[in-house]
Amino acid sequence: MKLKIVTPERVVVEEEVEAVYGKTIDGMMGILPHHVPVVTPLEIGVMSYLKEGQKKPLAVMGGLLSTDGKSVTVLCDAAELSTEIDAVRAQLAKDRAQAELHKLTDHHDVALAQQALARALVRLSLATGKASAR
Ligand code: ATP
Repeated sequence: MKLKIVTPERVVVEEEVEAVYGKTIDGMMGILPHHVPVVTPLEIGVMSYLKEGQKKPLAVMGGLLSTDGKSVTVLCDAAELSTEIDAVRAQLAKDRAQAELHKLTDHHDVALAQQALARALVRLSLATGKASAR
C-alpha cells in the first residue's frame, strides 16, 4: 500500500508499506492491503507503519485518515517521525501547558492548553521510547 502523511508544511511520509496503525476516536485501527474504504478522524497520538517488517512510529497531531484499500492518506496539522522530535522543546511545551492549566479559567483557553499538553506528551513518549502503536 502507498502511505502518504501530509501537513500544511511538508510531506512527512510517502512510502510503500505493509500495514498502518492509527489511533482513531474509536481506538487503535489496523489497516492492511484491501481494507474496506474508510475515512476517520485521528486522535493526537502515536501512529505507526510497517515497512519491510520494521515498525516506524510517528507522532500525529490529530487529522483525518482515509484509505481505499490500495493507499492510505493522513492529513494533519503536524506530524513527526520519532527521529525528528526535539525532546527538549517538547518538555518546554509540556511545562508551559501545565503552568497555563493551573491559572487559566476560560473553557476555550483550557481546551487549547489541554491540546498543547497532549501534543507535548505524545512527542515526549516517542522521544523517550515509551510509546507504543502496535
Ligand atoms: P511548540 O509550543 O513547541 O511550538 P506545539 O505543540 O505548539 O509546540 P505544533 O503547533 O504542534 O507545535 O507544531 C508546529 C510545528 O513545529 C510543526 O511543524 C511541528 O512538526 C513542529 N514541532 C513542534 N514541536 C516539535 C518538537 N518537539 N520536535 C520537533 N518538531 C516539533
